[in-house]
Amino acid sequence: MRPVCVPCKRTMRPEQNGFTVVTMTDDPLKPYQIWHGDKWKCPGCAAEMVTGFGKGPIAQSYQGDFQDELSFYSPLEITDS
Ligand SMILES: [Zn+2]
Repeated sequence: MRPVCVPCKRTMRPEQNGFTVVTMTDDPLKPYQIWHGDKWKCPGCAAEMVTGFGKGPIAQSYQGDFQDELSFYSPLEITDS
């Protein structure tokens, strides 16, 4: 079953596989973990969401190649609330 848009009462459509986000720490604001997910879009209201992240991040800030991974993916910076 695909994700559902509640206001539109319809299923979303796959928009992009392998969409990358990076969680940001609060204070100071710094990149923390890079995750791969799938982006979905509602054909009704055009809302977008990312889900399907799998079990763990693909890179973490303590790893030596983290800056290279950031440069490679240019992930969407997000707040993990
Ligand atoms: Zn919608």
